[in-house]
Amino acid sequence: MNSSIDTSLQEARVLNRNRPVPSEHEISKAKKELSELMRKKNAQIVCHYYVDSVIQDFAISSGGVVADSLEMARYGRDSEAEVLIVAGVRFMGETAKILSPNKKVIMPNLAATCSLDLGCEIESFKKFCLSHPKRTVVVYANTSAKVKAYADWVVTSSCAVPIINHLKKNQEEIIFAPDMHLGDYLKKTTGANILNWKGHCVVHDEFKAFELKELKTRMPDAEVVIHPESPPSVIELADFVGSTSQMISFVASSTKKRFIIGTDNGLIHMMKKRAPDKLFIEAPTAGKGATCKSCAHCPWMEMNDLTDMLRALRDDENEIQVPQEIAFSARKSIEKMLAFNQSRDV
Ligand code: SF4
Repeated sequence: MNSSIDTSLQEARVLNRNRPVPSEHEISKAKKELSELMRKKNAQIVCHYYVDSVIQDFAISSGGVVADSLEMARYGRDSEAEVLIVAGVRFMGETAKILSPNKKVIMPNLAATCSLDLGCEIESFKKFCLSHPKRTVVVYANTSAKVKAYADWVVTSSCAVPIINHLKKNQEEIIFAPDMHLGDYLKKTTGANILNWKGHCVVHDEFKAFELKELKTRMPDAEVVIHPESPPSVIELADFVGSTSQMISFVASSTKKRFIIGTDNGLIHMMKKRAPDKLFIEAPTAGKGATCKSCAHCPWMEMNDLTDMLRALRDDENEIQVPQEIAFSARKSIEKMLAFNQSRDV
């Protein structure tokens, strides 16, 4: 593994392990103070599904949103709040700032990042793209603002397939970065000519096909629902493959009662809310070759903390800044994605 990923991962795990567990009283006090401050500063929380369930519930009850990265981007842009509190990882805060340059964007912890973002450093990525100059550069939302600024397109897992299909129709050959498993899945689903950058998500990469096959045998009635950042051997065993929002919609509308879920286990909170009569089991990460670097929960998402959120808002800390010229170019690629999706929505 790239050493910057390893170092950041270790730091996140140490911080998470050493954080004191707040009492019920402390949590409700922080929520009360946050609510008051949010009203005063016209702030709203934009939260990802993988963040702690207490923060997810508070985001909704305080008038914010819990969503996937595409919806977070759209919601933040359209929100009338003056301050966006992004509970997620750094690239999500950057995307919010790029789309809302006049809003203040803060995060509970600026060190919360992502192995995909860290594994796709701009200078090496540029070199890679320049050695294949005819290819259209498509990057996943899980990248830095600099990488987005360099790309022709930005996609999220909920809109990657139609965008790649659109490019294939135009006979474009593609570089896809940074997630190689998602890139393989897109190649297989669309038949497009895709050259992958070799990054991976430390959470999804851990799901194990052999153990999942065994679990399926023991639970033949359960449907297997997998995120496309998982390895191809795991995706092959799925009854449904989709983005986080698509996974939630699938389990809510399925006639089945039991599901094996292959993504960060933070998503199960929203699945239970949408389908309270159903049972959700985490796909196995333990087994042959297991490292359990994450055990189905992103250590960077886990860094989001209610008291840090309160401190950031109260003391005007942890503001996300994106240099203007980078934001300008990155905005073009992100807005192209949002416009593409809007044209499909109507
Ligand atoms: S779950 Fe994976 S892709 Fe998502 S933020 Fe964490 S490391 Fe990145």
